[in-house]
Amino acid sequence: MSETFRALMIVDNEGKPKAEFRDLTVAELPDHDVLVEVAFSTLNYKDGLAVSGKGRIARRLPMVAGIDIAGTVVESRSDEWKAGDKVVLNGWGLSETEWGGYSRFQRVKPEWLIRLPDAFSFQDAMAIGTAGYTAALCVNALEAWGAIQPGGKEVLVTGAAGGVGSTAISLLSTKGYTVTASTGRPETHEYLGGLGATNFIDRATLSEKGGPLQKERWAGAVDSVGSTTLANVLSQTVYGGAVAACGLAGGADLPGTVLPHILRSVALLGVDSVMAPRAKREAAWKTLAEHLDKTHLESMTTVAGMSDLPKLANDILAGQIRGRVVIDIS
Ligand code: NDP
Repeated sequence: MSETFRALMIVDNEGKPKAEFRDLTVAELPDHDVLVEVAFSTLNYKDGLAVSGKGRIARRLPMVAGIDIAGTVVESRSDEWKAGDKVVLNGWGLSETEWGGYSRFQRVKPEWLIRLPDAFSFQDAMAIGTAGYTAALCVNALEAWGAIQPGGKEVLVTGAAGGVGSTAISLLSTKGYTVTASTGRPETHEYLGGLGATNFIDRATLSEKGGPLQKERWAGAVDSVGSTTLANVLSQTVYGGAVAACGLAGGADLPGTVLPHILRSVALLGVDSVMAPRAKREAAWKTLAEHLDKTHLESMTTVAGMSDLPKLANDILAGQIRGRVVIDIS
């Protein structure tokens, strides 16, 4: 295989990271055991940080960006995978320490891959992507904690119109939970209602610092915003409730108190997708295969090409992307 293919790489530009399209050959890829032909990748918040250069995501340069891959195994030195297998990869340091998915071909470690669930095409899997798989990790964490009940008290989703938020709303509503969406974009209410949200709150009501123990409202929450929003959500969570925290779209700080935890037994469940063990990944993808409504997924998804990535990276950081963007790599 001597043909060249285009990849979006983060390169060094006088000490700063900069995205640049480069032509690669298979021989230049890392020496991992499985060669995958990438069909689709996605745009996540972290990809926005990497491609725009606004976040130092890549820890060595040059780095192929893109934290998600859906594609077909072309060659494998591992017994676990063979040519023709359809696979998905989320995280595992792609775009940070390992070359990622914005490339027609990529070599990866066998243990990073999971089998594409039968329920999904490559495009579906990347419409879900890391954002959607993280939403499923959050829903599974809340259920495992036993905090939320179908038909019971409200479950709040912050950053509702984003990728994690949209998928969390769809999963929770399909599973029968009563979902409230917190968004700063009232124009998305119809879209979020279509995904199953039944109540809406303006995100501004959560971004002002509030008291340490506010009126109890949420049985549970999926929070992709962090900062004052997360502190307020914890303060408004009912006795014995839980909040799955996965994001920092509003900031990485947490300006709260221990009072919700020590007086109301509220649990803060941290959710990481990047290094999550395989069993948790497979459980999350099972949740998605069984409970993600395909019409919801379609309504969340926009398809774009690699050339669109530099502009889209800035859009996602500005909070202007609705739902999920799939990147067609072919
Ligand atoms: P998106 O940009 O698609 O969604 C984020 C949403 O947060 C926006 O759509 C917006 O929702 C809201 N938002 C943006 N800025 C602010 C702000 N300043 N204050 C309050 N709300 C804001 O990103 P993703 O859904 O892909 O990711 C969301 C977060 O989750 C990111 O921080 C990301 O890094 C993190 N993440 C973490 C993972 C992990 O492994 N822990 C995995 C995946 C994502 P609206 O317009 O509705 O208000």
